[in-house]
Amino acid sequence: MSAASTSSYDVIIAGGGITGLTLACALNRTGLRIAVIDQHEPRAFAKDYALRVSAINRASLEVFTAVGAFEHMRRLRVSAFREMHVWDSTGVGQIHFDSAELGLDTLGYIIENNVIQLALLDRVQQSETTDWLCPAEIESLAISEEMKQVRLTDGRMLTARLIVGADGTNSVVRKAMGIELVRKPYQQRAIVCTVATEYEHQLTAWQCFLPSGPLALLPLADGSCSIVWSLDETRVEQMMALDDAAFAEQLGEAFEYRLGSVKMVSARAAFPLGHGHVDRYVQQGLALIGDAAHNIHPLAGQGANLGIMDAACLADVVADASRVQRQWSALHTLRKYERSRKGDNRLMETTMTGFKYLFGNDNPFLTEIRNIGLNVVDHAGPIKQMLINQALGGH
Ligand SMILES: Cc1cc2nc3c(=O)[nH]c(=O)nc-3n(C[C@H](O)[C@H](O)[C@H](O)COP(=O)(O)OP(=O)(O)OC[C@H]3O[C@@H](n4cnc5c(N)ncnc54)[C@H](O)[C@@H]3O)c2cc1C
Repeated sequence: MSAASTSSYDVIIAGGGITGLTLACALNRTGLRIAVIDQHEPRAFAKDYALRVSAINRASLEVFTAVGAFEHMRRLRVSAFREMHVWDSTGVGQIHFDSAELGLDTLGYIIENNVIQLALLDRVQQSETTDWLCPAEIESLAISEEMKQVRLTDGRMLTARLIVGADGTNSVVRKAMGIELVRKPYQQRAIVCTVATEYEHQLTAWQCFLPSGPLALLPLADGSCSIVWSLDETRVEQMMALDDAAFAEQLGEAFEYRLGSVKMVSARAAFPLGHGHVDRYVQQGLALIGDAAHNIHPLAGQGANLGIMDAACLADVVADASRVQRQWSALHTLRKYERSRKGDNRLMETTMTGFKYLFGNDNPFLTEIRNIGLNVVDHAGPIKQMLINQALGGH
């Protein structure tokens, strides 16, 4: 494509993160002409674990399997987790989920974000109807009833019947739609890194609720763990400034030495946390998916899973309409996607904010409530089943 030329597609997907690439793969069956645009290639696969990993639930795994990408992820590197152990550091409340009790082999997999992207991108690059435009940055959109147009910073213009914003929290597509994501900061950041612990992780995802914020240790296939430790801004600054030995000591103590001492720590990174949800996901010829539409706290590891479900649902709606030659980019068609996803996404955002508040302080009354609550849930079959169903992605 030469500079300043205009290319026409049926669908333009702005953003080749996890959700944008999932959508591109899921739409491949329609035969529509698709462009996926991203400013960065996914990070190359490396011997050391990437710092960004996601706990991927069973519903998302089904989507990855259906689009033919999961086997590739497996060949690169995935880490199964069979159990989940959640407890409150200020009391005796705890809850335990075991895949064996559910008749399942795993509860899900911990997968590096770049491994997910690389496997999905491989499918995209094998598609004869999809173009991967990267590196390419979207500068602006021109939207009218008749035409939807994307301008790239290098001057190229693309037009399509449907433009999907999968371009994350600061979505350019969302702004062009005039839709606001009121993102409320939690005044916290999440520190992520890979650690080795004295004792084995037992293929268990461990989560400890501390008054200062949740701390998760996620099991990796080589025996190490990926951590996500949410803390207030000032504590994050202090923790990031520590040398590796002092950080490992603080981490082990915060985790109550459940896996013994922390013996090795990789490089660390910290990500700001916030939550928010748009009021509308769709307009005529336009749709938002993933973090472009909703942000949630990572404490239950659900953000990417919700985005993957958005992508699968939007692809189904478009594919169904296109198969029977209905107007697949029309507002009334896209509304089906919005109706089907908005409730689930809002429920998850509200639940995570509630959890964050309930567990994120040491008020004695709330401490008592949550300890009783966790233990009641752990012994109450139906409620526990409901929670586990939600964590598995509705299975
Ligand atoms: C610490 C942490 C831990 C997490 N753990 C989990 C977990 O265990 N499980 C889980 O399900 N979720 C988890 N999440 C959430 C998850 O990471 C996100 O929800 C998910 O990555 C969002 O994917 P996305 O594709 O919607 O957006 P993004 O990942 O933000 O992708 C957007 C893409 O669009 C591109 N882009 C943006 N603007 C432009 C532009 N103008 N031009 C071209 N390209 C553009 C970007 O380069 C990017 O590749 C976690 C989040 C954090 C912060």
